[in-house]
Amino acid sequence: MIEVSELTKRYGEKTAVDRLSFTVRPGQVTGFLGPNGAGKSTTLRMILGLETPGSGVATVGGVSFRRRPRGLRHVGALLDAGEVHGGRSAVAHLWALARGNGIARRRVDEVLDEVGLSEAAGLRVGGYSLGMRQRLGIAAALLGDPPVLVFDEPVNGMDPEGVHWARGLFRRLASEGRTVFLSSHLMSEMENTADRLVVIGRGRLIAAESAGEFAARGASRSVVVSTPRSEDLAALLIASGASVEPEGHAGGGKLSVSGLPADRIGALAFENGIRVDELATHAASLEQVFMQLTADSVEHRAGRLR
Ligand code: ADP
Repeated sequence: MIEVSELTKRYGEKTAVDRLSFTVRPGQVTGFLGPNGAGKSTTLRMILGLETPGSGVATVGGVSFRRRPRGLRHVGALLDAGEVHGGRSAVAHLWALARGNGIARRRVDEVLDEVGLSEAAGLRVGGYSLGMRQRLGIAAALLGDPPVLVFDEPVNGMDPEGVHWARGLFRRLASEGRTVFLSSHLMSEMENTADRLVVIGRGRLIAAESAGEFAARGASRSVVVSTPRSEDLAALLIASGASVEPEGHAGGGKLSVSGLPADRIGALAFENGIRVDELATHAASLEQVFMQLTADSVEHRAGRLR
């Protein structure tokens, strides 16, 4: 269990993390989502005791990380896959970590096997691709067989096969009862992986809920209706409490209706003798829900042409 309470961190004028509170439970994969610069890494560093909070507390298993001896047995973390010394081999890197944490050497072979690096274990890490470095970082996090795992953008740089593998690993680790907390700036990486989502923007909490609840935000869907009598139908729909906008080019006879389900719209048209040519319900994708929720907190928005 990870608990974050009123966590705040400022860098000069900039508030990177702003009174953030949430809980990450065992037995689940929790996705930590936010646009770049939202404060995810800063939060993870505070959870791990690598950064001192300005105020608030972060605990793992009820205890602040710094007070724990043998850290790797309590929390496994991958923060920056690039931080491993490039001149070392993967196996030498993991041996050093194991020794420093009182972990048997045999465990190094196990985790190398787990992440699919057994054959490359003797090669210098400097020659590794980013995806291989990510695998090595995950191996290091698993070394102490910890109940809590924290990964910052773990699938960044992995090929589709690697992403698929990592997804399966995270799910399995959670099914073993571990607390698994993964950050990403991409909603697509969390789909089919995370049970719960913690979404932040500009250091503030935007949502902390199950993936199902998050998806339900997109279920406030709209219905597209195509009819030759769009003005008549629009008036009827508005009178029934729906909100109506023209869909596509003006005068095309298509309406985008929200606030009424498709069957009610169809019935209303039928009762009033209005022919309907098309009736389609559109649910927002998780990506669209994420973009809408975080739209106000994107630091560097792509420039618009007009
Ligand atoms: P994320 O991981 O969500 O991309 P970060 O936690 O890395 O976001 O950064 C949050 C904000 O804090 C950003 O605006 C970033 O520029 C700023 N920031 C992060 N670390 C530092 C630092 N050491 N010094 C100054 N500003 C920082």
